[in-house]
Amino acid sequence: MRLSQMLFVTLREDPAEAEIPSHKLLLRAGYIRRIGSGLYAYLPLMWRVLKKVSQIVREEMDATGAQECLLPQLQPADLWRESGRWDTYTQAEGIMFSMTDRQQRELGLGPTHEEVITTIAKDLIRSYRQLPLHLYQIQTKFRDEIRPRFGLMRGREFIMKDGYSFHTNEESLKKTYEDMAQAYSNMLRRSGLQFRAVDADSGAIGGSGSQEFMVLAEAGEDEVLYTEDGQYAANVEKAVSLPADVEPSPFATFEKRETPGTETIDKLCKFLKCSPTQVVKNVLYQAVYDNGITVLVLVSIRGDQDVNQVKLLNELTKLAGNYQAKTVLFLTVPDAEAQRKWAAKSLPLGYMAPDLADDYIAGSKEVNSKFLRLVDRTAVDLTNFVTGSNESGYHVVGANWDKEFPLPATVVGVRTAVAGDRAVHNPEQILQSARGIEVGHIFQLGTKYSQAMGATYTTEQGEEMPFVMGCYGVGVSRLAQSAVEQSYDKDGIIWPVAIAPYHAIISIPNISDAEQVEVAEKLYAELNQSGIETLLDDRAERAGVKFKDADLIGIPYRIVPGRSLKAGKVEVVERATHNSHEILIDEVNSTLKQWIDAAIK
Ligand code: ATP
Ligand code: MG
Repeated sequence: MRLSQMLFVTLREDPAEAEIPSHKLLLRAGYIRRIGSGLYAYLPLMWRVLKKVSQIVREEMDATGAQECLLPQLQPADLWRESGRWDTYTQAEGIMFSMTDRQQRELGLGPTHEEVITTIAKDLIRSYRQLPLHLYQIQTKFRDEIRPRFGLMRGREFIMKDGYSFHTNEESLKKTYEDMAQAYSNMLRRSGLQFRAVDADSGAIGGSGSQEFMVLAEAGEDEVLYTEDGQYAANVEKAVSLPADVEPSPFATFEKRETPGTETIDKLCKFLKCSPTQVVKNVLYQAVYDNGITVLVLVSIRGDQDVNQVKLLNELTKLAGNYQAKTVLFLTVPDAEAQRKWAAKSLPLGYMAPDLADDYIAGSKEVNSKFLRLVDRTAVDLTNFVTGSNESGYHVVGANWDKEFPLPATVVGVRTAVAGDRAVHNPEQILQSARGIEVGHIFQLGTKYSQAMGATYTTEQGEEMPFVMGCYGVGVSRLAQSAVEQSYDKDGIIWPVAIAPYHAIISIPNISDAEQVEVAEKLYAELNQSGIETLLDDRAERAGVKFKDADLIGIPYRIVPGRSLKAGKVEVVERATHNSHEILIDEVNSTLKQWIDAAIK
């Protein structure tokens, strides 16, 4: 492609709308253009990158025996009602765009395709003989993200590879799941990314395994905890660790103490000269279930620990049946305004005890009249502990479960693991923290969707059984941008060779120099013919401008037919290192071929 004929517009200034380097660079270098919130045009250079990433993904998927297909993006609401997800996906914090057609039929724009694929399996897979089966597609997904940001990282329209596998049993699912873990590692390695596979939260489905593939970068929205021995890595949402040891309590007898101005654990421990490991703190949450019922949740946890809201949400989802609900729509720490809706009197915030009376709640049809009391494992074995007294300005010390306070019946593990904690698999290993961008997620679904949608097959014995399913996603557009987030310098993007839009760019320093033009044209034709994807910068610009643009757009090799032409050579500059080589014109092709092959391996 000739730059003189291309839509080639680079920006000198950092665009105000972008916060992170990769977003700025893709805008500045003319790869993407914002059309609306979370909506981007993939301009020609970006589209080439996306096609390369897609091709790597496709090759790795095909190698596992998975089959590519393409499913409709417009999905009938009825399918989502069958799975029970229509309301949660279209209301409240739901992420599905939905609409009604002229016949008053409701439809959603696909954020994911479990429902569509499960209905296909239900219709077409009759017998165990047809299993296992794995279908995937590479397609635009739509999600009404509350906070679209960082360009392609969190868009409202983005490209995803999603695959779904069907099995007769868990063992077969596990095999495909492991094949996928390998395929995902291959995809990311081939795309030139530094990444880590981590244990991930599998949401309310629980039990079965799930892993995320994290590209390591400061701008990542996720925190990963890992150990240096390589034996453990998990998303902080899911991570487990050993809490610090409890320090012995200085309080031998139960009494109420005046503790003015000690709403926080810090202030309280300073005031009482005790350790936060000897405090039971009581944290209030407000959960709204999908049937509209609000439940106030009081979590008792050790003072030095924090509640992990993802873990709490999973526990509350498990308890949904107690409130005739299926899932939790919202989980928040109720602010003053939220409290006004249900609080019968003002709460002793900062001084609450595990037995905070239920009459603080003005129960109603929408508000459950009793606190749901949960205790985290870290608080269960404490003795002679400090906790609130339910009276502002006072705490109690030397308290014990089942003496002064009944131990809540529901014991949960909802503490947040943090960097510096000891690892469960080996207490000598200390958890380290890194930031990551989630580019892939693989998931053992089990029978959640097949059961809900009545998708069954006939076993060898003639029984009807629900499919055992897995699902596997890669954010193709997010992956492409994370490559930039991991690889750039002050001059611009440094594409990994495997996914660069072009391998090489020939920058003609002076287009009125006939010899320069002649050599450039010759190389341009030759290189492209031999499969080295090459741009020709034949614009009537100064050499400096061309070099800057070549650096900005991040093409791996820049070829300059300049001063060294006299010696029958051109200059070839490696983008990543700025290393410059004088290479005989006749050897440019073979040299580049070698370099590219070595880089892509
Ligand atoms: P996240 O936790 O980042 O919101 P998710 O868990 O909702 O992602 P999945 O449903 O597992 O994502 O989707 C599979 C992959 O699609 C993700 O691993 C990610 O790479 C990509 N992806 C998800 N949401 C977006 C988005 N809004 N923009 C771009 N890519 C996305
Ligand atoms: Mg995910």
